[in-house]
Amino acid sequence: MKFETDSNLQPFNSFQFPCLAQQIYFIRNIEDLLELELHNKDYLVLGGGSNILLPEYLSKIVLKNELKGIQILEETEDYVIVQFASGEIWQDCVEWAVEKHFFGIENLTLIPGTIGAAPIQNIGAYGVEIKDCLLSVEFYQIKERRFYNLNNLDCLFSYRDSIFKKIKGFFITSVTLRLTKNSNFKLDYGDIKAELGDRIPTLKLIKEIISGIRKRKLPDPNEIGNAGSFFKNPIISKEQLQNLLLRWKDLPFYLQPDPNFVKIPAAWLIETAGLKGFQYKNCGVHKNQALVLVHYGKGQSQEIEELAQLIEEKIYNLFGISLEREVNIWK
Ligand code: FAD
Ligand code: NAP
Repeated sequence: MKFETDSNLQPFNSFQFPCLAQQIYFIRNIEDLLELELHNKDYLVLGGGSNILLPEYLSKIVLKNELKGIQILEETEDYVIVQFASGEIWQDCVEWAVEKHFFGIENLTLIPGTIGAAPIQNIGAYGVEIKDCLLSVEFYQIKERRFYNLNNLDCLFSYRDSIFKKIKGFFITSVTLRLTKNSNFKLDYGDIKAELGDRIPTLKLIKEIISGIRKRKLPDPNEIGNAGSFFKNPIISKEQLQNLLLRWKDLPFYLQPDPNFVKIPAAWLIETAGLKGFQYKNCGVHKNQALVLVHYGKGQSQEIEELAQLIEEKIYNLFGISLEREVNIWK
């Protein structure tokens, strides 16, 4: 198996922070995984590095996921069941599905990273989450040397959450999706319908419309380091909402499946607190999307931690809401 010691992880994280890792193993096939002997060692799994904040030094073993392969397991007139090896790049999976004319993941276009990380936070965008078409997730518990397969219900998916945020030591090896062959577009979110106008929706067109919206609003990690939304959108009780609306009359909110709760856009809170575009040392709050913290270059990840703390304090003092971090902080 290929490995390196004292490896710089800067090219492997979308924040583009330098990080010296003790050791990195490149996992290219299942045999590489089975070979691992990590009984007394601490390790972390790395996908595309688009949802992590790295320390300056990482005294852990990094397992870089490079498992590849796409296999159709079942096909009928109406649907296909497809197993994706977990190291496949998510955007390649979207392009593959759109090319083959399979529906279900087109709204999730341009989300960086690997498909193996996608179930962990139940990736979502433009009204669709991966849970909507996910059949099962296979993972390997390295210390137990055992494979498990969880079906959709067992994954306990909810908003940016799943069972994989609660268990440890696992390496997701494949993700199986059920994609449909009949048109099943979700066009109700944001500006999709307006941009579509009177054109007939096709998979390619919807993918292009959403890609266009994203490119206009979100910073490209190849140009400015970032890890997408740094915080989750807080879910608060209706009671708390009523109190907040007394002072913040234009506070936006979205109803939740549980009618006692609503979701508040964290970007609105940060913007209203006057922090949109705010710069802190070599980092800052993005000028177009206040939920995205950015690294302008030559900074340390500690600066993002300090900035995040400053935002959290300000939001709590102003609105009484505790922001929860979406990005995974590696120590
Ligand atoms: P990594 O950052 O490598 O890892 C994330 C976490 O998962 C780490 O804790 C890691 O240890 C663990 N992990 C990764 N792979 C495995 C595995 N195979 N087995 C076990 N553990 C693993 N997210 C959304 O939900 N919606 C969006 O619209 C969205 N837009 C984004 C836009 C930008 C510009 C950026 C930079 C990020 C965005 N994200 C979005 C966040 C991110 O892309 C997703 O969370 C993505 O799924 C992370 O994939 P990754 O492979 O890069 O994971
Ligand atoms: P946006 O459209 O400006 O909306 C702001 C927030 O309000 C979103 O976070 C969204 O919650 C919520 N919202 C808007 N319309 C909604 C509706 N009809 N129903 C329920 N909730 C609604 O957001 P944006 O920043 O441009 O992002 C667009 C989409 O891409 C969002 O779905 C967002 O989650 C996703 N995205 C995610 C990341 C990440 O790193 N996680 C990064 C960039 C973009 P939801 O987040 O629940 O949709």
